[in-house]
This record gives sequence, C-alpha cells and structure tokens, in this order.
Amino acid sequence: MVAGCVFCEYNDPKAVVYDDERYFAIIDPEPINPHHVLVIPKEHYEDFIQLPQDLLAHLFQVVQRLSRAVRTVSKPLAIMHLTDDDVARMGYNLVAPPGSPASRAKINLPPGRAPGYYPPP
Ligand SMILES: [Zn+2]
Repeated sequence: MVAGCVFCEYNDPKAVVYDDERYFAIIDPEPINPHHVLVIPKEHYEDFIQLPQDLLAHLFQVVQRLSRAVRTVSKPLAIMHLTDDDVARMGYNLVAPPGSPASRAKINLPPGRAPGYYPPP
C-alpha cells in the first residue's frame, strides 16, 4: 500500500464492478464515456512494465471478461455507432508519466462512441 495513492486507498464499493484475489475493477470516476472501466491490481505497481509475469495472464482474463461486460451494457446506448466494436480501445501507460499523482498500473476499458454522441458535461 502506498500512502496517497487513490487506488491503494480506494473505498467506494458502489463503483466496484469486479473483485477477486488479485484485481478489482471500478467505473472510472472521470470517465471518457459512460461505462469506462478501470482494471487495477490490488498490489501497487507503478506501471504496466513492473507487473510480475504471474499476474499478466490473469490480468488479461479479467480484461477480456470485463470487455464483454462493457460491450453488453454499453450497446443499447451506442445507437449511432456503426460497428460492433463497442469496446474500441484498451489502454495503459507503459511507464507512469513523470510526476503523475496517479502513478499506478491499471488498464482502461473505455467504450467507443460515435463522435459527439454524448453531449459535453
Ligand atoms: Zn497504489
């Protein structure tokens, strides 16, 4: 646990959409689109490169499972989207941006949307 790390200190059970012994996933508090999910290792790693090999296979099993879930729940809203690729992107930082307060390995699963489909906040 790293003091000051928002994910080490995460405590909003309402936002948790997945939980197992090594990973949890939440709805991003600052989503790119609705249903934007973050998959986060429970143990703190600064970035993807530091993740131990034995966590990687399980990570991508979780990512695939949650990608299916994001696709399922976001599809009814994606009426302007012209493909089935509702989960258009999966992203992570290979290394943490310098000085980033959110230096923490995590996978982003933001649903894809047609540009302008959602009005700006
Ligand atoms: Zn942390």
